[in-house]
Amino acid sequence: MTALMQPATGRITLKQGGGGRAMRALIERLFVRDFATLPFDGVGIAAMDDGAAIRFGDDWLVITTDSHVIHPIFFPGGDIGRLSICGTVNDLAMMGATNVLALTCSVILEEGFALESLEAIQQSMIAACREARAPVVTGDTKVMGRRELDGVVINTCGIGLTPTLIRDNGLSAGDRIIVTGNIAEHGLAVMAARHAIGIEGNLVSDVAPMNTLIASVLGTGAITAMKDPTRGGVSSALHEMASKSGVGIVLDERAVPITAAVRAVGELLGIDPLHVANEGKALMGVRADRADEVLQLLHAHPLGRSAAIIGTCNSERLGSVILDTGFGKRLLAEPEGEPLPRIC
Ligand code: MG
Repeated sequence: MTALMQPATGRITLKQGGGGRAMRALIERLFVRDFATLPFDGVGIAAMDDGAAIRFGDDWLVITTDSHVIHPIFFPGGDIGRLSICGTVNDLAMMGATNVLALTCSVILEEGFALESLEAIQQSMIAACREARAPVVTGDTKVMGRRELDGVVINTCGIGLTPTLIRDNGLSAGDRIIVTGNIAEHGLAVMAARHAIGIEGNLVSDVAPMNTLIASVLGTGAITAMKDPTRGGVSSALHEMASKSGVGIVLDERAVPITAAVRAVGELLGIDPLHVANEGKALMGVRADRADEVLQLLHAHPLGRSAAIIGTCNSERLGSVILDTGFGKRLLAEPEGEPLPRIC
């Protein structure tokens, strides 16, 4: 009890926004501990899932929120506007809510921000809304003084209904792990843009709304768990899924889909693509006897052409991820957080 009553001391570090262990520790200690004590009947903050879920008749009402602080705001393959719609649509989809009822959009601007840029951002938001068939229905606009904020920050919130709730903790021993496409494109495209690294080949962010892709496989009833590997990448998401589900995961390194451009930039920057953010990819647990069927459905969708079975759950080393390199096996370390801040 005394330990719980101690006031927080120290200062926030960038690492605590990186989506890994450091951020989770901060959220658990500062927000989950007390908010989770408030009466709530549903999947709430203690679950630390992609969103929350509330019983609504025979359905689940899923709600999620995300703030977007990416730098630079325009990057190869997208911008902060597209990202802010896709991020929220995808978190809803990860819980099975592929039909988006409504989105909200709050924009905080720095004095002096170019109106042309704001209009470009708004145009890409509306384009992403059309792709996701998701309406923005309310919002808020605030302006802060010069240097009180870096350009623009966008918060979106989304709600959706689903008859079947998918959690990130539903893996069982024997389940296969599927990734819906090539990994690490978002994070490495943004890092390359930030460091003005010239790239051979085509390295652009994968930022996209995944709800129609996910809807194409939900009907199989074979999906046991889902999570989008955003900050902290595939490694962070798999560690979280494994520990919440109480399984071990063996990841087949050679099966992980990865482009030559991503591999090259990852090597140049000394960053493991398994630790890098994605904004248009899902990790799913699938019953072993249905994995090929789900894979075929994913391959039939434009966003799922490179989907692959990359791992298997077991009942050994619960909560850990073992990387099978083809030459040997080693424990995959869980990242402290995303290698670079402000990636989403
Ligand atoms: Mg998520």
